Amino acid sequence: MKCRRCKGPAVIKMPRHNTAFCDSCFQDYLLKQVTKAISAGKMFQKEVPVLVAVSGGKDSLALWDILIKLGYKTAGLHLNLGIGAYSQISQEMVENFARARGLELIIHQYQEAYGLGVVQIAKETARPACSACGTMKRHHFNRIAIEKGFPVVATGHNLDDEAARLLGNLLKWQVPYLQKQSPVLSDEGGKWAKKVKPLYRLPEREIAAYTILNRIDYIVEECPMSKGAKMFTYKETLNQLEKASPGAKHQFYLGFLKQKEASFPTPPPPENEDACHTCGQPCQGERCGYCRLIERATAVPT
Ligand code: AMP
Ligand code: ZN
Repeated sequence: MKCRRCKGPAVIKMPRHNTAFCDSCFQDYLLKQVTKAISAGKMFQKEVPVLVAVSGGKDSLALWDILIKLGYKTAGLHLNLGIGAYSQISQEMVENFARARGLELIIHQYQEAYGLGVVQIAKETARPACSACGTMKRHHFNRIAIEKGFPVVATGHNLDDEAARLLGNLLKWQVPYLQKQSPVLSDEGGKWAKKVKPLYRLPEREIAAYTILNRIDYIVEECPMSKGAKMFTYKETLNQLEKASPGAKHQFYLGFLKQKEASFPTPPPPENEDACHTCGQPCQGERCGYCRLIERATAVPT
């Protein structure tokens, strides 16, 4: 198998492009895809400091590595969710990555902050673990970005993540979610940190190849709380489609982005938004979902 571009020995087959690349041409292609995503989405410019949310998994560590190679100003943010050995290994992976490259890393530990991990917080409030975890992550990404002066937060969501989410939203016709699904979420005039997903053009398989070629060590296990999550079924279904019809995932998600504003226009920011009386983040009503969650989880039972 030869590289389509330079005719050197290929290391990866790319059925969706009906081609194969050598190590150097593949990495060149991959970096160009990220550059294209950043410029097409007007995500951020070179002088803007970007906070990269790093879980310790392959996508977010690959993203951090790529942004550094492309010359962006970055720092990492890791939330230690307090899920036993899984969280301990995740943190170690992120710390090793940052230390080896001399990068700034911010760590926030739930166990230290609340005396509880996310699993106990979800249990105390009778919320599904992934939903409580999502509320908390959104709050801390935003809070820490604003406190530390980062106008942008970048996450490692890839094409598989976004296509699976789209499939789920369509299957249930969740129009408000479809309206909000985007690789760029606005800062709404500085109320929030802007949220961006620079890997949305790249499938998981290509990011995995990038981590191997660059010897990036990451936590392989999925979060133990996400076992059986619907997202895995959607991803599996899309992988079958991709196998039968290479490029299907890209067509599905990138096609949606092209049509989105015509079919599912982004709603204007809510008019009656206030600042949460406890944490100050924008919310509807007196207190935000995060503050209500934490109050319920940490309240002393009577
Ligand atoms: P997930 O929702 O676990 O698929 O993660 C999606 C993205 O959210 C990752 O690629 C990271 O950018 C970010 N993320 C998830 N978990 C964490 C964490 N514990 N700390 C920091 N960022 C995270
Ligand atoms: Zn609040």
